[in-house]
Amino acid sequence: MSAPRVTTAPKVVAVTEASPADLAGVRPGDELLSLNGRSPRDVIEYSLLVDEPDLDLVVRRRGRTDPFTLRVAKEPGEPLGAEVSSAVFDRVRTCDNHCEFCFIHQLPKGMRRSLSLKDDDYRLSFLYGNFTTLTRFTEMDLERVLTERLSPLFVSIHATDPDLRAAMLRNRRGAVSLRWLGALLDGGIEVHGQVVVCPGKNDGAILEDTLAGVLDRYPQLATVACVPLGVSRFSHESAMRPHSRAEAAAVCDTVERWQETFLSALGRRTVFAADEYYLMAERPFPAAATYEGFPQHENGLGMARAFEAAFGGDERAALGVRPGFFAAVDGAPAAGYRARRGLSADGGTERGAPIAILTGEYGARVLAPLVDGLGRDDIRLLPVANTFFGGNIGVSGLLTGSDLIEALRDQPEGHRYLLPDACLSEGRFLDDLTLGDLPRPVEVVATDGLSLRRALESERPAGVRPERVPVSLGAPR
Ligand code: SF4
Repeated sequence: MSAPRVTTAPKVVAVTEASPADLAGVRPGDELLSLNGRSPRDVIEYSLLVDEPDLDLVVRRRGRTDPFTLRVAKEPGEPLGAEVSSAVFDRVRTCDNHCEFCFIHQLPKGMRRSLSLKDDDYRLSFLYGNFTTLTRFTEMDLERVLTERLSPLFVSIHATDPDLRAAMLRNRRGAVSLRWLGALLDGGIEVHGQVVVCPGKNDGAILEDTLAGVLDRYPQLATVACVPLGVSRFSHESAMRPHSRAEAAAVCDTVERWQETFLSALGRRTVFAADEYYLMAERPFPAAATYEGFPQHENGLGMARAFEAAFGGDERAALGVRPGFFAAVDGAPAAGYRARRGLSADGGTERGAPIAILTGEYGARVLAPLVDGLGRDDIRLLPVANTFFGGNIGVSGLLTGSDLIEALRDQPEGHRYLLPDACLSEGRFLDDLTLGDLPRPVEVVATDGLSLRRALESERPAGVRPERVPVSLGAPR
């Protein structure tokens, strides 16, 4: 199979002052047609190329008729100082599956087109932690991953039974594509797996069979996350429904039982159930230590415990998550492959103003005991129901501007309103609204316990516009 065709050149969006790129004359807006004669396919290749010393850049610049060459003097490994605008310069490899539980199929009409991009691209798995089913993975991809050590990767398993996996993906290649998982693991690539558990489809005995299949065939998998399907009110899949409380409890039981098996066979628990299962089952979260360092924190495994620890002052637990559900399509990878989330709206609050913490319905259940423990009557939770998506969507990361508008409309002025940055991508909510559309000014807080604690302890002077928020990670979803 031939290599993907390069369709766009990397476009420079920022140049660091006094960097080699700046001194050579690279300017924002320049398109880098080639670097030392090569046109990178993606930011991974770009990063390797710009590591070289003394680059010849062929540049196309607006207002100049012809491309021209800039010679960059730099040491090997010295940062070039030119940030580019996207992760992939050829086409993002899109998914050819049609999963019943796909959340992208459950988006309402009228959302940004970019949100409809169904990627199944191992490069975005490496760059952003997106899960890939490997149904479009090729021998050439395997060679590249192994050669360039693109690790870790994140693979959707769902079921190890070939026929069931093909049925769940609605793609016959789903029956065989886990052979690539074996090849990646044999090649020493760290891979994290995911099982989206759909009640009546792959829970119960099938989940048992899948976890047995993991232990039998893919024991090198670093972790396996069992996460519940999300069902929005726009779903047209009649067989897809949220878990009942008893079904959620059964998933917790299955996972905890298999943790013991993995522990005795491999010395690590390997499989974890998402926090949402414990919320649905109305059970306490497992102890923080059982998450073994929170390897899938970004996917909602142990987030509540990590948040709690960070809120209590443990800086090591202020873990991050990748920037949002749709980050790979909206976020530029310019800064360490991570996109900034957004700006805070203007202030306008008084010192000592009462504080309201905006959060999703699940997040509120995690935060309630933490906030109660502070014993402060000037802090309240403001849970926001997700009427935009409806269904069983209760995580903070999927809060939309329109629901926040409703939640804030009747709230008193002059109070401080704290918003987790997990629901923003490049300053926009999923429904394309911005902080400026909200009826009250809000402070965007990095979604980890430490940042929230610090925000609650700070008395932000009135009218000061906070700094751009740092790349943030993690929150009770
Ligand atoms: S693989 Fe992912 S993106 Fe593709 S249909 Fe399934 S859930 Fe949707």
